[in-house]
Amino acid sequence: MAFSSINPYSQKHLKTYRADGHVAIERKLKQADRAFADWSALSIRERTDYLRKVGQYLFASKQRYAGLMTAEMGKTLREAVAEVEKCAASCIFYADHAEAFLADQSVETEAQKSFVTYQPLGAVLAIMPWNFPFWQVMRFAIPGLIAGNVGLLKHAPKVFGCSLAIEEIFQTCGLPTGVFQSLLVDVPVVENLLKDKRVKAVTLTGSGRAGSSVASLAGREIKKSVLELGGSDALIVLADADLDKAAEVAIKSRMQNAGQSCIAAKRFIIEKSVKKQFTERVIHQINQIKQGDPTDDATTMGPMARLDLADAIDRQCRDTLAKGAKLLVGGHGSAFRRDGCNVQPMLLDKVKPGMAAFDEETFGPLAVLIDAKDEADAIRLANQSDFGLGSAIWTQDLDRADRLARQIQAGSVFVNGLMRSDARIPFGGIKTSGFGRELSEVGMKEFMNAKTIWVE
Ligand code: NDP
Repeated sequence: MAFSSINPYSQKHLKTYRADGHVAIERKLKQADRAFADWSALSIRERTDYLRKVGQYLFASKQRYAGLMTAEMGKTLREAVAEVEKCAASCIFYADHAEAFLADQSVETEAQKSFVTYQPLGAVLAIMPWNFPFWQVMRFAIPGLIAGNVGLLKHAPKVFGCSLAIEEIFQTCGLPTGVFQSLLVDVPVVENLLKDKRVKAVTLTGSGRAGSSVASLAGREIKKSVLELGGSDALIVLADADLDKAAEVAIKSRMQNAGQSCIAAKRFIIEKSVKKQFTERVIHQINQIKQGDPTDDATTMGPMARLDLADAIDRQCRDTLAKGAKLLVGGHGSAFRRDGCNVQPMLLDKVKPGMAAFDEETFGPLAVLIDAKDEADAIRLANQSDFGLGSAIWTQDLDRADRLARQIQAGSVFVNGLMRSDARIPFGGIKTSGFGRELSEVGMKEFMNAKTIWVE
């Protein structure tokens, strides 16, 4: 079996990758198992030294890896460079903080001594998507490896070049063989991997469909899983918001990476009294977007990653318009104006529950406006979703923001700022957006045994 990689902007064939067969998979599993014994026996300081080296190497090689991401999945080179820099900075963050995060925690009891010590589990399978080909992998791998686990990556075939590059980065920085390996495999192989005793846990970032399947398989094997799935994040704009800033950040959040981000602001929920002013500002922001060749410095939005993903958002847009939404910007009749994967940004108004753009995750450059009567109505609409990943509230009254943020059903709420992932804070969702957390101290401990030791 072979996987073909296609540049989404030019539609030119980039490379063909041969799938790993049974022999290669078995060799990698054996190596992972062997590597775990030695790697987990190192001190945290020794492991952080390796990851600090990875951070420095990524900073120095950012242009090269950014170019690979852009070629494989179409994000602009500028976005790709920022992605590599974020990975590098996160290596340094964990290298600086891991010893404190993983220190034994003493507990006051009637025992002579009682404490919790954190120990790694073994090989963790990471199933990752194509939208942030480096960051999605690194935000698992950096804390995971420092914790003493070893990684097996099943990346999306769209970005198998990135998958191999990440493996090569760890090798170049001297990490022992087997500590991080890339598996070039298809979905059906995942079931056998999860059944294998050498694989101890799984983390997946992707669609609900993939998450549900993997969580079921992991559950059957009684193996821990962390799922970071889709979102339909609300961005609430209240009447007292800084509308210029809110509109600028709303469009940045929605349109970056050509709209292919789990934490994009997918539903703009606007208090009625400022709807007109906010809409004008949003249209102005959309008109600033420059589409084109993602390797060109002037381009601010590249193509979508795959034709089928562009088809999917086209369908959601047509469904939403057919149910009564109004087209304000972009589009061609009732569909996206597009040339293959190059999809023009669109803005729809009068979007309501029952329409695809409200109920489903929209993974592309589609911004939608939803009317709210007042703050209570805005919160009700924000929570009227199967998803619960991120969200944002715009208001100048910070006491009100604090009160409302607590009412939103989501893993994160950002007030007057861009919803984003950051190594210093936990990241993840509730409802069908998944479970478990990545990043920070909380994410680092997801794949560790919190072992209690009690001495009478
Ligand atoms: P998928 O969820 O299908 O792909 C993500 C990863 O999961 C890939 O490595 C994929 O492998 C793998 N995968 C898919 N199905 C299974 C399965 N049953 N068992 C194990 N692994 C599986 O996403 P798509 O690329 O098809 O995108 C579809 C939609 O998913 C998007 O439009 C978006 O709504 C959502 N999505 C959300 C992401 C996020 O960041 N939360 C990221 C990507 C997508 P393979 O590619 O080989 O099928």
